[in-house]
Amino acid sequence: MEKQKYERPVIKKLESSMPNKFGTRTEYVPVTHLEDVAVKDLIKEHGSPLFVISEKRIRENLRNAKQAFETRYPKVQFAWSYKTNYLDAVCRTFHQEGSWAEVVSGFEYKKALHNGVDGSKIIFNGPDKSDSDIKMAIENGSLIHIDHLDEFYSVRTISDELNKKARVAIRVNMDTGIYPMWDRFGFNYENGQAWDALNKIMRSDNMELIGLHTHIGTFMLAPGAYSAAAYKLADLAVGIREKYNHEIQYIDMGGGFASKNTLKGAYLPGYDMNPSIDDFAEAITSALINSNFKNDQLPLLILETGRALIDDAAWLLGTVIANKRLSDGRRTTIVDVGVNILFTSFWYDHKISPAQPFTQYTEDAVVYGPLCMNIDVIRDSVNLPLLNKGDNFVIHNVGAYNMTQWMQFITLRPRIVMIDENGKVHVIRERESLESLLDKESVPEHLKTFEL
Ligand SMILES: *Cc1c(COP(=O)(O)O)cnc(C)c1O
Repeated sequence: MEKQKYERPVIKKLESSMPNKFGTRTEYVPVTHLEDVAVKDLIKEHGSPLFVISEKRIRENLRNAKQAFETRYPKVQFAWSYKTNYLDAVCRTFHQEGSWAEVVSGFEYKKALHNGVDGSKIIFNGPDKSDSDIKMAIENGSLIHIDHLDEFYSVRTISDELNKKARVAIRVNMDTGIYPMWDRFGFNYENGQAWDALNKIMRSDNMELIGLHTHIGTFMLAPGAYSAAAYKLADLAVGIREKYNHEIQYIDMGGGFASKNTLKGAYLPGYDMNPSIDDFAEAITSALINSNFKNDQLPLLILETGRALIDDAAWLLGTVIANKRLSDGRRTTIVDVGVNILFTSFWYDHKISPAQPFTQYTEDAVVYGPLCMNIDVIRDSVNLPLLNKGDNFVIHNVGAYNMTQWMQFITLRPRIVMIDENGKVHVIRERESLESLLDKESVPEHLKTFEL
């Protein structure tokens, strides 16, 4: 018989908790494998911490989302939101599944071109498009979503200079019943700004109004807000047809569907509570179908879903550095994953699973990262089995934003691997090294030497 593991005893107050409406749940199963690849092997081969992405899960998520919309509406197109995760391997998985690219900066635009996306399938959003970005987008026939009037004037001037029609839409913001309102991007529906911009575009020789866009917020938990937004865009589209006898080609509902993560302070786990893609699809498509479009004139519906398609397709693996007690006796576990690479721990209670078997004892703990900073808290209170120095763990649902918003701070950013559909592991981003960082620095001649 294998020798049992010694574990120091803990004395703990008994609390008999009530089952919630989903029954009692045991979150504590060790996660030793990710898609049949052993967590320990991944860490041994690629180091700790390590981001792991599942190609299979990405494809499944997109196919499910497509099905949710396509079974309810005749013409649907997804565009991958680059800022959510713009690793080339991730973007290309989405492009292989038919997604266009949705970008919000010149850098992202060029990354989409580099990935081989045809300019006419790049949606260019965001408030900061330089003149050279706009020129590039017009020349490539991209979908330019105008954010403010200064941008409108730039697009008009540049399209006149090029004597080439710019394919444009406006971004619209509106009251969707969610407050505070997201009104910093685009033109407002209620106060007439949106109509003002549309009239200006319709009166410009070299601008072709092809669509209407909105992105009402992020991590939205209310499908009804999308239905309000869809009605308002449909109303604008029908108004444009009446006034100018001009039909727009698409309505773009942006992104923002909540993933299955649990927001800090939420009463129940996101996995149980957050709406599904079907709920969002139902809200949006029924609003469009029930609006005043004639049935044969329903526009293409574009979706820029980001987080809901990638969050659960990635994990972050890590290792315990130490355990200690705070002055009040609370257990703390220090791990090698900091908030600099797990940015989303500021607003989610990420689920953490040990990666090896454990005994039945659990204790409330604070999980700290390795940074020398007070804000470096991965979980401020989590009931965890006892983890020892050197033990490994898996943090779930980390695919959105962490690999784009991460910071290099006192440590080096880790490798990212992707498990393909056959279980083969590929390095898709190399870890940083001292050399790769020094590469960007230079030292003035007079600072090159010193004596101590
Ligand atoms: C960020 C963003 C998205 C994606 O948002 P998610 O919350 O990741 O779904 C889509 N469209 C625009 C314009 C965005 O800025």
